[in-house]
Amino acid sequence: MKQFDWMTPDDVAHAARAATATVATAMLSRSGQPTTDAAVLKAGGIDLLDLMKEDLLSPHRLINLLSIPGLDRIEPQGGGLRIGPTVTLAQLAAHEAVRARFRALADAAGASASPQIRHLATLGGNLLQRPRCWYFRSHAHHCARKGGDTCFAFAGENQYHAIFGHRGCAIVHPSTCATALVAFGGALEITGPTGARREVSLEAFFRLPETDLQRENDLLPGEIVTAIRIPAHPHTTRSIHLKQGETDSFDWPIAEVAVALDLADGVCRRASVVLGAAAPVPHRAVQAEAALAGRAINEALLRTAARAALEGAAPLSRNAYKLPIFEALVRRAMRAAMEA
Ligand SMILES: Cc1cc2nc3c(=O)[nH]c(=O)nc-3n(C[C@H](O)[C@H](O)[C@H](O)COP(=O)(O)OP(=O)(O)OC[C@H]3O[C@@H](n4cnc5c(N)ncnc54)[C@H](O)[C@@H]3O)c2cc1C
Ligand code: SF4
Repeated sequence: MKQFDWMTPDDVAHAARAATATVATAMLSRSGQPTTDAAVLKAGGIDLLDLMKEDLLSPHRLINLLSIPGLDRIEPQGGGLRIGPTVTLAQLAAHEAVRARFRALADAAGASASPQIRHLATLGGNLLQRPRCWYFRSHAHHCARKGGDTCFAFAGENQYHAIFGHRGCAIVHPSTCATALVAFGGALEITGPTGARREVSLEAFFRLPETDLQRENDLLPGEIVTAIRIPAHPHTTRSIHLKQGETDSFDWPIAEVAVALDLADGVCRRASVVLGAAAPVPHRAVQAEAALAGRAINEALLRTAARAALEGAAPLSRNAYKLPIFEALVRRAMRAAMEA
């Protein structure tokens, strides 16, 4: 790992003016060698340092967001929540209001990684971590997402890759928390170097490879995620997040689902069903949502909705095994949400 400078900004404006690149833009190159003149943002540093240790990223300066006061709060806002970007996954998993009203998010944060990592990893960094595709993480494979010409996954080892939306690149979105936040209609507040703020829904923020092959989201250099917002939901909403690993370990899931159901007298008024580890973005299973909305829930309907969640799936050569896992997980999550 190359030597780098360390900067501890006092406020968001200072940090935003200093950041010359996002990690995605700093990693892009035609030659396969990362640029060495970038100043990039660091939160917990878990993904960032991982990329630097693998020589996939060589910034000359790290800007430490943890030194900025006030970004680590969880506050009520308009019946929903405003979550600071440096709130850790451990804080999120344990927070009383998150557990009581947005349980799928607390479950997702608590199911991510290991206890030690959850105590350091921040929500902002979790949403912005780069993909886990092993070709992407290998110095020896200069793939299309890093600025090369080839996606090695299509003809290669694609057992952990996408079953939806994989035109040009078959990553799965790495953030477990993103799956739950999309189910709640979450949004980001983003502050730019001039201090101007914009708000974008997480669904619009994340990008499919057919829109942008080299960035997983629309964050620009000098922009900082300053809050994650969850809108108010009716008190009749029940939610759950379930994660399926290959083994019972601290690894990323091979399949996960977040479900939020607004239920009254056994009838589903509104449903959100979002699949993680399925596509390059958190995947809204809109056919499953439509199958549930306005209907009295029974076992037959849950089976129909779980099958509908996989409509349009296009597995690759080695990952068709994910289809029955997702179907069972969606059914189980809907049942658990009703009982939550
Ligand atoms: C063994 C292991 C298992 C794991 N399992 C899971 C899992 O199951 N699910 C899961 O979701 N994750 C998992 N992770 C990943 C881990 O959760 C992430 O690496 C971590 O959440 C990143 O957060 P961080 O604060 O360390 O981010 P950093 O590494 O500091 O930053 C990540 C990226 O976000 C950018 N960034 C950070 N904050 C901001 C901000 N506020 N504004 C703009 N840019 C910002 C940085 O520039 C960088 O590009 C695992 C990691 C390990 C090592
Ligand atoms: S799936 Fe995406 S990240 Fe992985 S090798 Fe293909 S282009 Fe690269």
